[in-house]
Amino acid sequence: MAVPGLDGLLSADLRGTRVLVRADLNVPLHRGTIGDDTRIRACLPTLKKLLRAGARVVIVSHLGRPGGERRPEWSLRPVAPRLAQLLATGVSFSEDCVGKSARAAVDRLGAGQILLLENLRFHAGEEENDRDFARALAALADAYVNDAFGTAHRAHASTTGIVPYFSHAVAGDLLASELRHLQVVREPQRPLLAILGGAKVSSKLGVLEALSSHAEVIAIGGAMAYTFLAALGEPTGKSLVEDERMDDARRVMETAGSGGARILLPTDHVIAERVEAGAPSRVVESIPDGWLGVDIGPATARAYAGEAASARTVFWNGPMGVFEIESFATGTRTVAEGVAGSQAASVVGGGDSLAAIQSLGLAERITHLSTGGGASLEYVQGIELPGVAVLET
Ligand code: ADP
Ligand code: MG
Repeated sequence: MAVPGLDGLLSADLRGTRVLVRADLNVPLHRGTIGDDTRIRACLPTLKKLLRAGARVVIVSHLGRPGGERRPEWSLRPVAPRLAQLLATGVSFSEDCVGKSARAAVDRLGAGQILLLENLRFHAGEEENDRDFARALAALADAYVNDAFGTAHRAHASTTGIVPYFSHAVAGDLLASELRHLQVVREPQRPLLAILGGAKVSSKLGVLEALSSHAEVIAIGGAMAYTFLAALGEPTGKSLVEDERMDDARRVMETAGSGGARILLPTDHVIAERVEAGAPSRVVESIPDGWLGVDIGPATARAYAGEAASARTVFWNGPMGVFEIESFATGTRTVAEGVAGSQAASVVGGGDSLAAIQSLGLAERITHLSTGGGASLEYVQGIELPGVAVLET
C-alpha cells in the first residue's frame, strides 16, 4: 500500500488553506536553550513547500515527557524563534494546542504564515489517543501532514486519532524520505551488515532478533556486547551486564547459528576502573575482575570497519563504547570511518549514534541519518508503524 505524499496535496491550490503539520520538534533543551537542532532542520523542506504554496501552516509537536500536565520546563516556546531564524520568516506561538487561544491564533494566520502550538503532551489526551482531543486538534485545520517520523511508532491523537477527520492526510517529505531509506534495510543489497551497540540489550532485543535471521552479519559492540559475552561464559569484570537478558542473548545467537547471521563479538576491549575521563585504561583480550569494558578494542574496531568495507548495505544503531569520553571513543570513531568510507548504502539511527557521527564530522558521508531512534528500529524489524499505516490508501 502506498503512503500519499506532499506533492499530491500541493497539486491543489493551497492558498489560504489551513494545514496542520505534525512535526517532531522534540529537541534537547537545557534551561530554555536548544542543544542540537537537527530535528527542527529536518522538517524545514516540508514547511517551506507549504509556505511557498500560500498555506496557513499550523505546527504541532510534543517535547519531552510532561505526562499530560502543563509543565513550563517542557514548553515549545523556545523553538519558535529558532524555527523563525531557520525559515527566515516570523513564527507565531500559541500557549495551548487546542481551545480558544489556539483557534484565535489560527484565525489570525494569513496565507503563507506559520504558527507553532504549545506542547501536545500538556494534554493527557495526546498519548491516550483520546477521541475528543483528536477532534479538537483536527478542527484547527483543513488538511493534515504528518512529518514526525520519530513519533510514527506511537498511536497518539496527533499521529493516528486525528487522521479520519481529514479528507487530505499525507506524509511530509521527512517521513517519506525516512521510509524510503529504511526500506533499503528491509530489502537490502546483500550482504547486509548490522552494527548494534549502545547501552542495553533490552532496548534493542527486537531488532537483534529480527536481524539475526535477516542480516548476513551482526557486529555487536557497546555495553550490550558484555551481556552476550557473559552468556557465553566469558569474563566481563564489572562491565554492564543485563543478567535477565542472557537467555535472550543466547537465543539470538542460536537463531543466528542455525543459518542466520554471522554474529561478531568483541575480541579485545578497552577497559577502565571507572567510567570517567582520565580514569586509567588499557587494552585487553580478557576482562579482569574489578575492571569494566568501556569501548571495543582496536582489533575489534578494525574487524568491524573491514566488514563495513565489504558490505553493500549497513545499518548502524548504538555507539561502540562510552564515546562521550574522548579516550573511550576510538572504537566508535574507527567503525564510523569504516562505514563512511564504504561503498555500501549506510543508514544510521539512534540519538547517541547520530551525535557521534556528527561530532566526528562524518554526516555527509552516510547515506541516511535517521531522525527516529525507536521508530527506525521498529520499521527495520518489519513492524508496521501506526502513524504510517493510518495514512496508507
Ligand atoms: P542510541 O541513542 O544511538 O540508540 P543508546 O542510547 O542505546 O544509543 O546507547 C548510547 C549510550 O550507550 C551512550 O551513552 C554510551 O555511553 C553508552 N555505552 C556504550 N558503550 C558502553 C559501555 N561499554 N559501557 C557503558 N555504557 C556504554
Ligand atoms: Mg540514546
